Amino acid sequence: MDGDTFRHWAHEAATFAADYRETLRDQPVRARTKPGEIAAQLPESPPEDAEPMDALFADFRRIIVPGMTHWQHPRFFAYFPANASPASVIAEMLSSAMGAQCLLWQTSPAATELEGVALDWLRQAVGLPADFTGVIQDSASSATLCAFLTMRERALGFTGNATGLSGRERLRVYASAEVHTSIDRAAWVSGIGHDNLIRIPTAGPLRGMDPAALEAAIAADLAAGHRPAGLVLCIGGTGTGAMDSAPELIRIAHRHGLFVHVDAAWAGTAMICPEFRDLWAGVEAADSIVLNPHKWLGVQFDCSAHYLRSVDDHLRTLSIQPEYLKTHGHDDITNYSEWTVQLGRRFRALKLWFVLRAHGLNGLREMMRNHVRWSQALAVRLAQEPGFSLASTPVLSLFTFRHDPGDGRDLDAHMLAMLTAINDGGDLYLTPTRIDGHLAIRFQAGAMETTEGDVDAAFQIIRDTARALS
Ligand code: PLP
Repeated sequence: MDGDTFRHWAHEAATFAADYRETLRDQPVRARTKPGEIAAQLPESPPEDAEPMDALFADFRRIIVPGMTHWQHPRFFAYFPANASPASVIAEMLSSAMGAQCLLWQTSPAATELEGVALDWLRQAVGLPADFTGVIQDSASSATLCAFLTMRERALGFTGNATGLSGRERLRVYASAEVHTSIDRAAWVSGIGHDNLIRIPTAGPLRGMDPAALEAAIAADLAAGHRPAGLVLCIGGTGTGAMDSAPELIRIAHRHGLFVHVDAAWAGTAMICPEFRDLWAGVEAADSIVLNPHKWLGVQFDCSAHYLRSVDDHLRTLSIQPEYLKTHGHDDITNYSEWTVQLGRRFRALKLWFVLRAHGLNGLREMMRNHVRWSQALAVRLAQEPGFSLASTPVLSLFTFRHDPGDGRDLDAHMLAMLTAINDGGDLYLTPTRIDGHLAIRFQAGAMETTEGDVDAAFQIIRDTARALS
């Protein structure tokens, strides 16, 4: 592709991006396509000869765009948000234009140095102490895997990488049933094993881990000859926003020498608002904390911030330096590829820096405060409607609800029917969760373009759907 052609299509791509954002509100939130429909429109084999860019662009518009669910839609109330603020989209375009590969300082010095600075800004913004050092991971799942690996190595005196786990005592890690499945995966992939991920019962309205039950589980494992290795705290669980109470749990963990990892993937960035910090008070005593700027904060996926108390332990677990990656003559630099499982690294710090500067912390705080206010007002309003009840205590901008028409029908089937009708309507997108064995619908306000009017519209649609199905 010559320079003029590249310039032309880069402009077309930018025009598409602006048009897409402007017309998003008119689109159904969730893709209206059936499994296999998109693939059926694509040739089975790759082209032998080059195709013109206008053919590619036409197929992109005709086949791909209609097959997408619109995460930036103002009425996306499903899962957790994956906000891509326009500033972060522009930063991604720039980083993509450079095709940067940021594995070592010398392969992209500005990317490495910006990563350190932007993560330190974010650390200050969420109120974590200066003895935490950050690294950008592709996802919270990767950060949690690294934490499990460090947990494992610490418990084994840093011999596990060399000799493996076979023939050793069982390592035990403790977490509640409210944690995300990335914790389960990390237990499998780290070799600790799912059977050694011990579920601690929860109590209270925020479904936090019961400290007495944690103490008892550790005591039982020690008595059985197992090796307690780690504790995972849930700060904003995916289902209902569950919150473990950090101070006492971390005290117990540290008394037994456990490594503590905090999964605050969703709720962590809300700590830029000082009034929400009570929810995670005490996490500053943890060893590892993950929070996702690629969720609520507006930094386009992927960008996960992983804060470490001991960089040394982390590097003892992950770092490897073959000759071809050595940076002779530079002993005082950071090579972030030694901090992550993957070697090659994208230039993710650019979009975090752009977002923090383009919105300022006050702009981001205002967005989050609005979401929390609107979502909590909707929870109160829905709970006052006949047949509706909240299924969990609202946390930040997330709540869950059920509806009972009062005629003795199967309520799980009714909730599923409501959810399907709402989502097929195209005006909202909501997702389910299961609470104490029963299906409930989750509502979270988090999309950057959401207005109070969109949350009002959600109220009407949810209420009218319940009435229509009763
Ligand atoms: N932890 C929590 C609480 C989550 O809700 C999610 C995803 O939604 C994750 C971890 C995994 O995040 P990621 O997609 O960055 O791996």
